[in-house]
Amino acid sequence: MGFSVTSCENTEKALGSKQEELVRHLQNAVDYFGRSREFYCEQQTNPHPRMHLEDTTLQVRTYYINYPRESFPGRDIEKQPPDWQPQSVSAHANASDVAKFFQTVLEGASTGQYVSSILCVEDNGNNSECSGGYWLPKHQQALFGQEIVNGQLCCCAVAQDIVAHEFTHALTSWTVEFNPLTKKATGLDYINQSGALDESYADIFAILIANQNESDIGQWNWNIGSGFGHNGAAVRNLQHPGNCAEPQPEHMDNYLNAPENNDHGGVHHNSGIHNKAAYNLLTSQDNQGNYLFDVTSAAQLFYLALTRLSKRSDFIGSRRAIQQSAKTLFGQESPELKEQIRDAIALSFDRVGVRVLLFDNVPMKFWTMLLNLDCLAGILFLRRHLM
Ligand SMILES: [Zn+2]
Repeated sequence: MGFSVTSCENTEKALGSKQEELVRHLQNAVDYFGRSREFYCEQQTNPHPRMHLEDTTLQVRTYYINYPRESFPGRDIEKQPPDWQPQSVSAHANASDVAKFFQTVLEGASTGQYVSSILCVEDNGNNSECSGGYWLPKHQQALFGQEIVNGQLCCCAVAQDIVAHEFTHALTSWTVEFNPLTKKATGLDYINQSGALDESYADIFAILIANQNESDIGQWNWNIGSGFGHNGAAVRNLQHPGNCAEPQPEHMDNYLNAPENNDHGGVHHNSGIHNKAAYNLLTSQDNQGNYLFDVTSAAQLFYLALTRLSKRSDFIGSRRAIQQSAKTLFGQESPELKEQIRDAIALSFDRVGVRVLLFDNVPMKFWTMLLNLDCLAGILFLRRHLM
């Protein structure tokens, strides 16, 4: 499909003593999978006319990098005749979609920068096989390597779910333990259960973003990174965590107590348990057989839960944060629906062995009632509020 400019906007930005004119263009080009994608780029008209992959409104920028020989962020990706390179189109359009999702669906989400550096064989035959995708907190950007898929080197950034996964690590680092005074967050400690939560929330939003156009949850694809794992398998699967390139547990009975020098305490392994709880919750149905959540309500629920986590949160802490967030989000719903949501969250985590203790989370009001010997009222209160 040919290159076309369908709209443009002029902006100016100061560049030393000169004014550099930037023209924002809406592009339509073919991506790696042969699909037509829309995205914005910037045309710099001075001193040398050139067009590169940057969307100043969404704060999305995409660069080529020959990692590790070149330093971050890399080189501008410019339009090559006759059109943009398909893998670059995928990378930039995917990052733009993720930024749009965070900014439109997650009201109040931090609007950081979505910077990608991609290793790409289309970059003058870059045959480096630095594999995987990474969020680099120090550089505040994502790095996407290449894997052999169907016999050919392919940049991981062509997969929207992988791009969504990496930028959710960014979202987490901007959200958990956010201090409104310093406008900084601590993020989750990348170790043991808090690190596994970081991985799991990245997987959850990867699934939500990749399936956002499919309204029937029964038709969702629960794989992440299909074809990018060993032997062409998916990297993760929320429905069947054991059915992917590196099988994960889906119950606390199989939790791996790994040392810190082994995958930061098994963060990419044990995340399967929390992933399975999320799958259970996302597929929960009401008494009429309708799904309790859709993409928007589920994304808002998990995002609000993120804002209530602390840097050392564990799986039970996430369960509590989701229950508290559900009370906030669905507080205006009918008592029946609120009860069904509360029970669905509890059951989803119970089924993977993430259980609260009998008297855990009992509100202080209950103990006060007991002290007042108002036992009956206390028991009724407990029935209504125990998660
Ligand atoms: Zn990750």
